[in-house]
Amino acid sequence: MNTIYLDNNATTRVDPAVVEAMVPFYTEVYGNASSASHAYGWAAIDCVDTARKQVADLIGADEQEIVFTSGATESCNLALKGVFELYRGAPAHLVTQVTEHPAVLETARVLETQGVSVTYLPVDSVGRVRLSDIADAIRPETVLVSIMAANNEIGTINDLGAIGALCGERDVLFHTDATQAVGKLKIDVEQMGIHMLSCSAHKMHGPKGVGALYARRRRPAVKLKAQIDGGGQERGRRSGTLNVPGIVGFGAAAAICRENLNEESQELSAMRDRLIEGLLSAVDGAALVGPGDRRLANNASIYIAGVNSEALMASLHDIAMSSGSACSSAAVKPSHVLTALGGPSDLAQSTIRLGVSRFTTEQEIETAIRRITAEAGRLRQLTSSVDRVFRKS
Ligand SMILES: *Cc1c(COP(=O)(O)O)cnc(C)c1O
Repeated sequence: MNTIYLDNNATTRVDPAVVEAMVPFYTEVYGNASSASHAYGWAAIDCVDTARKQVADLIGADEQEIVFTSGATESCNLALKGVFELYRGAPAHLVTQVTEHPAVLETARVLETQGVSVTYLPVDSVGRVRLSDIADAIRPETVLVSIMAANNEIGTINDLGAIGALCGERDVLFHTDATQAVGKLKIDVEQMGIHMLSCSAHKMHGPKGVGALYARRRRPAVKLKAQIDGGGQERGRRSGTLNVPGIVGFGAAAAICRENLNEESQELSAMRDRLIEGLLSAVDGAALVGPGDRRLANNASIYIAGVNSEALMASLHDIAMSSGSACSSAAVKPSHVLTALGGPSDLAQSTIRLGVSRFTTEQEIETAIRRITAEAGRLRQLTSSVDRVFRKS
């Protein structure tokens, strides 16, 4: 593909080393990890154990606290529905924020239809939730607080340690959707007081269709009602034959991230900052969306006043990025995250999201800056000449 890939907050390239680790588990070691009676099964069990340890190590957890799932969407569903199902019929309250991923927001909506009351906290102008708002929202029936680690659209990082400490003091559970943060940001579930954490392999150079839910076993032990019933895999918390090659790939991806975390996050931030600085200095009306500090290492979200992001993307087929609107079926909906920031009225229509990765090159960054600058300028001229024509007639 000769399109520059800058959509790494949507998904990432599977690292070739990860693919290499996975292949034998399709073609040679293809046993079922539930088959404890022969060598194929034993080999599958062994490698799943290794991967479980690799994923656990990346977040400071214990292997037994990792439940493999089909991805972060399923993990968030299991975390929220799995906890609240145990409170059926009793008053129960969930605290979350308006800028969560739909995996949390839509699950919260479903819980509301089942009698759970939900508080959706607002965020400030860079997308950060206030700790005091969380504290004020917690009441006697509050069961769980769900706040994401880093936002997938605008890169806002939340202070997990502070939220975890608050939840510990107030004796409520803390779940974090850490899909964007795991592998890029140092996360320690013990130190940060996290009780449940959702993540996904494909956002960290692993394969699609595999993720994990961390659920604490001690102080306190998180009780969960399974959402997929069957053969009782994953200690009864998630039934179904394990995706052995996917899990092996997830483990390999986690190990690579853990080994290079500090160095890589510095490299990613440097590329991100060059993109931001390059675009802000060259493009008229460009501004950074989201925080200038405590920002996800690979995310640049840029508002370009007066330039429609859909039109910009349409004229930039050589660069893969995303806009502030999600195309769901025919309708183009403005992003709920950008809308929540309370910025200019055209913020959602005129914002692009660029995400770098370990495979992005400096040359690609320079090309992207040059191309976006040129096309944004051309579109702005076009718009202003159309405006002139209409004003004359
Ligand atoms: C990508 C993403 C998800 C969904 O993950 P899947 O594995 O694709 O289901 C959830 N939350 C956040 C923050 C994400 O970025």
